[in-house]
Amino acid sequence: MNSHAPKIRASIQPLEESAINRIAAGEVVERPASAVKELVENAVDAGATRVDVAIADGGKTLIRVTDDGCGIPPDELPLAIARHATSKIDGSDLLNIHSFGFRGEALASLGAVGRLTLTSRAEGHDAAELSVTGGKIDPVKPAALSRGTVVTLRNLFFATPARLKFLRSDRAEMQAITDVIKRLAMAEPSVSFTLRDVSGGGEGRVIFRADAVTGDLFDALRGRLTQVMGREFTDNAVPIDADREGIRLTGLAGLPTYSRGAAVAQFLFVNGRPVRDKLLIGALRGAYADFLSRDRHPAVALFIDCDPHKVDVNVHPAKSEVRFRDPGLVRGLIVSALRHALAEAGHRASTTVAGATLGAMRPEQPHPPRVYQMDRPSFAARQTAYSMQSPGFADMQTTYSGRMVEVEEVSQETDETPREYRPLGAARGQVHENYIIAQTEDGIVIVDQHAAHERLVYEKLKTQMTQNGVPAQALLIPDVVEMSDSDAARLFDLSDDLARMGLTIEPFGKGAVVVRETPAILGEVNSHALLRDILDELDDQGEARAVQDRIEAILSRVACHGSIRSGRQMRAEEMNALLREMEATPYSGQCNHGRPTYVELKLSDIERLFGRT
Ligand code: ADP
Ligand code: MG
Repeated sequence: MNSHAPKIRASIQPLEESAINRIAAGEVVERPASAVKELVENAVDAGATRVDVAIADGGKTLIRVTDDGCGIPPDELPLAIARHATSKIDGSDLLNIHSFGFRGEALASLGAVGRLTLTSRAEGHDAAELSVTGGKIDPVKPAALSRGTVVTLRNLFFATPARLKFLRSDRAEMQAITDVIKRLAMAEPSVSFTLRDVSGGGEGRVIFRADAVTGDLFDALRGRLTQVMGREFTDNAVPIDADREGIRLTGLAGLPTYSRGAAVAQFLFVNGRPVRDKLLIGALRGAYADFLSRDRHPAVALFIDCDPHKVDVNVHPAKSEVRFRDPGLVRGLIVSALRHALAEAGHRASTTVAGATLGAMRPEQPHPPRVYQMDRPSFAARQTAYSMQSPGFADMQTTYSGRMVEVEEVSQETDETPREYRPLGAARGQVHENYIIAQTEDGIVIVDQHAAHERLVYEKLKTQMTQNGVPAQALLIPDVVEMSDSDAARLFDLSDDLARMGLTIEPFGKGAVVVRETPAILGEVNSHALLRDILDELDDQGEARAVQDRIEAILSRVACHGSIRSGRQMRAEEMNALLREMEATPYSGQCNHGRPTYVELKLSDIERLFGRT
């Protein structure tokens, strides 16, 4: 007989309601962040336009969510905390779900494992309040509240001490709460969110804040993603908008160059619901496989919307996993939409700008931005088109001499060099000492030479870094740069990495460092400005970023120092060399700051501007 056999067989008993709720709570409420998620989802479901969350001690002692939504009438308060009671579905069609909630167990569970107070006022009713403590329900009583709902949850898990033991530090729990709120905020741009830490009492400290954004759907989304993920992300991401058999994919996908060392910036939503679904994450990996090494992770915020019957969101108690009716379809949509957008961004980014510019000029004739297609007319056709190009700006030269640097070598150059396909065309001139105008087979390209050069230097630095390190050039006279001891110490912490970047620094007494070598590719640099920029970058970075990210960010700053400043005249072969280099360099369509390095206008676009089509 095995030793686990019970000594006395108890008869089978139904569990008490409070025990059932406690068990359910184990599934729904894992930690304070999951409670916050349920409460904020309820507020959004109630049509709130602002949701304020106050947290004390990582949510262990206090979670308070205040909203201005529709409220709950006094007589429905007991139902709100009853298990399997919900106002969100009619009870029969479990797939037809348009709100966050529907399981009707969150409040019941929270009331079972903490001290829960619901204060609410619905239109046309007085405010009322109901408290539940460890499953014990007090009578409804009158309260004071002008509108909406305040849910206060104190001493979470006091009734289940075992779970309390598994909670992490206040800081870690707060981090998880912040993450939850950010995800929900992304999905609801028109709702204002604030998260405060009130551990010290009073108004507390604002941890996160996102004000409601307006505008058309895409503008609003972009605005909200900037608030949540930072401008760097939105500036370095491509818009996604694709559709397949009734499933729509929208959002922003970060450029491969903006990848991260961990999957910390991947936000996926299904019908507005934040999910962490294996299928979707796998599809994302597939989409970026060509652009990223395995240890890099893309940054994305992607939204899948479809008829609720095409996806079952009811498979997971915390509703973070979903099941699609046709997983292959969803995967295919993600992979192809992202690949397409990223390949285009490879060295484009610019035609969308042209599209936007043209759109602004002729708002009555919106047209989709041009796509750079590499599978265009045959080689022979392109050759003819290319060689048929007119000599260029020769006539304008007299009128604008001094402002336009003309390129006489063009025709000669096209004759001599093998006629490859050159998307960026042949340089025709330089205007305002920073913009190169080039003629392509079917339009013109305007290059921002400063931005382009910066990008090229950055890509080169990155390549050199992964090979034998960036070649350095010794300074004839080492530069002494003064700075605070703490700044100097921060640089010395990095000195090995800096040396690999071609930058050799050494201590130089108190409050100064001496620069002995600088990256050769930069030419002559101002060491002081360079070090200052690196320190600024370190300030911006914080500690959280992975080493590789930090190094790339520093390289990007370094690259700015070697760039051809605008205001420098370029000779024809320099300009053409720059164009050829851009064509050969991945991601040269954007500068390190995410601005385009060139814009392209197709002849048809130009004709449109002149009303010829
Ligand atoms: P569910 O959200 O799955 O319906 P909950 O237990 O989270 O289940 O909530 C139960 C019900 O209480 C909801 O269906 C809703 O009617 C009501 N409710 C909860 N929170 C709010 C709120 N902040 N504002 C208005 N009604 C709410
Ligand atoms: Mg709910």
